[in-house]
Order: sequence, then structure tokens, then C-alpha cells
Amino acid sequence: MREYPVQYAAVRKPKPDPSTLVFGKTFTDHMFLMDYTAGQGWHDGRIVPYAPLSLDPSAMVFHYAQEVFEGLKAYRNPQGGVQLFRPMENVKRINASCARMCIPPLPEEDALAAIRQLVGLERDWVPDQPGTSLYIRPFIIATTPSLGVHAAHNYIFCIICCPVGAYYAEGINPVRIYVESEDVRAVRGGTGYTKCGGNYAASIRAGERAEAAGYAQVLWLDGVHRKYIEEVGSMNVLFKVDGAVITPALTGSVLPGITRKSCLELLKSWDVPVEERLITAEELFAAAGAGKLEEAFGSGTAAVVSPIGEMGWEDRHVVVNGGKIGPLTQKLYDTLTGIQWGTQPDPFGWVVPVD
Ligand SMILES: *Cc1c(COP(=O)(O)O)cnc(C)c1O
Repeated sequence: MREYPVQYAAVRKPKPDPSTLVFGKTFTDHMFLMDYTAGQGWHDGRIVPYAPLSLDPSAMVFHYAQEVFEGLKAYRNPQGGVQLFRPMENVKRINASCARMCIPPLPEEDALAAIRQLVGLERDWVPDQPGTSLYIRPFIIATTPSLGVHAAHNYIFCIICCPVGAYYAEGINPVRIYVESEDVRAVRGGTGYTKCGGNYAASIRAGERAEAAGYAQVLWLDGVHRKYIEEVGSMNVLFKVDGAVITPALTGSVLPGITRKSCLELLKSWDVPVEERLITAEELFAAAGAGKLEEAFGSGTAAVVSPIGEMGWEDRHVVVNGGKIGPLTQKLYDTLTGIQWGTQPDPFGWVVPVD
């Protein structure tokens, strides 16, 4: 495996108490950096002390949002080792995002080596209390100082890490979600299938409105017909209807989640019928009305699964599984977290040790 030079931090920060951690506010001692220069390619990969970046105010990322990111976690296993969950999927996905955003792709093995070396160096930051982990945020930004609307000639690939507390410290409580009929997150032909900051910027207003109305998340509809369900908040969404699990097909405006993919692979291995297809809000609410909507949940790296207890859509309102987590959702949660934290066998070979 490739090894990058390390400039060690002179001062090490105190490790936080995982029970009081707020997501994404505490960062480790080091970060990974690599530069891209047109004509030279990606070069000078290195680990340096965590510190602010210095960028020209005309750096293109500030103006035209040429940027992509990823999110994955490192988990402390019962033997005290540190492991990653399907990290190559994140590397492949950042390159798929790069292709859409005209950002030069990363050499895949080098990017994985960078994640492993940084997490290995920061291993003492991986908490060991149940449900805790180290969140890893790789991202690429366009740094060329220019206000012209073109692909940049210079980029920085950076990886930062933050210890995170248990997502369900208070137990798994299903959330209330609201079908958003006005704003859309993404459209086909746009950037919905990529992890880019612009998708998130476009989603904030609906999220704030839903929160003000007492809902935890937005259920997104497609941007053309405004009737097909796409995602919930920044998670993929799955429904159990009449014994089968249905999830929106990856039509281009839906993010291909690694948790989604893992749920589908597990469900198939359990012989649960799975359908990836278009699904309208009308079909969903009709199924709920007929008593056939058995379970509903979001999926993503942060929460693993997030059960949906109630759904609102204009003046309609349904409760799912009595507002409680469903048995299949619970089984997916237990199996995925068991594999991720190494308390269960890993029959699919999804786990990658950091060293
Ligand atoms: C990251 C993300 C997901 C979930 O992907 P995972 O790989 O499962 O973490 C779903 N939807 C959106 C919009 C995302 O950005």
C-alpha cells in the first residue's frame, strides 16, 4: 500500500467525551491533502496537522460550486481494531461525482490508501462506546483563481475526520416526514446522483420549512412530474408494502447510497422480494390507506436506517406501523451495525481493516 509523508501535529487536542459530541463539530489532529495541477495530475499527497486552508477569494469553488464530497465511517471492533465499511464504494462514487462535475478522477487505490493511512494515524480518535464511530469526510474543491465559467485547472483533495457519538443515543424513535410539493432537490440530467454541495444548498429551504412545521425530514418528489418519490432528507428511502420492499429506482436524480445497496443485498439474501422502480406518493398513501404499508425507513451512513413513523402530504396524514420501528427495519439495522462494528460475521466481505 502506498505511504504518504506525514507532518505531525506539534500539539494533540484532548479527546472529547463521546456522550456529549455534536455531529461534525470536533475534528482530529491531522488531515490528508493532495493537489491537482493540469498537466501534472494528482500529486503531493501528504498528511499534515488539521488547520484552515488558505484560498484565493476568486477560487472557483466559492463562485460556481465545483466541488464533490463523500461520507463514510471507521468503527472500533471488539478486538480493539479499527475497520471501514465498503470504503472502495465511496472512492468509486466520488469519481462518479467527479465525472459529472468535470473534476479529474482520483487514482482509486491511492485514494483508499490515503483514507486508511489517515484513519490509522488517528486511530486513538475512534471512540469505543457502543454506537460511536469516526466520521470521515473526503472532498475535492476547485481552487483555480478565476471567475470564468470553465472547469478549473487546480484542485485540492482533502480528508478530514471527526469522532461522532451514537446516532440513537436515546433509542430508535421513528420520525415524522412531510412530502415536499414545491422545492425539488434534483432533476434528471442534473447532479442528483452525485454528492455535491450544490444539491445540499438547494435542499436547505425545504428542510427548514419542514422543521418549522414539526417534521424531521422532507420526502422529495421528482422534479419533472412532481409525483414520484425520490429520497427522504439526505437519505435513500425504502418501503415495505404487502411483503415486498420497494425503493425508488436510480433514475439519475437519486443518490446511489451504499447503505441502500447493502440493505437491498441483505434483503435479497433473506429472500425478501425487492423492487427498484418508480413509486408515486399517490401509490404510497393509497397503500397506507389500504393497510398495506407495513414499514418505511430512510437509509444512510450516519443513521444506518431511520424508521418513518408518520407521513404528511398536503392535508393527508398516515401513521406507519403504529409509529414504531418495524421488524424488518430492525433486522436490517441489527445486521448492518453488527457487520460494521464487527460483532457479527461479515459474509459479504464488506469490512476493510485500516491496518
Ligand atoms: C450520502 C447520501 C445518501 C446516503 O448514501 P450512503 O452511501 O448510504 O451514506 C442518500 N442521499 C443523499 C442525497 C446523500 O447525499
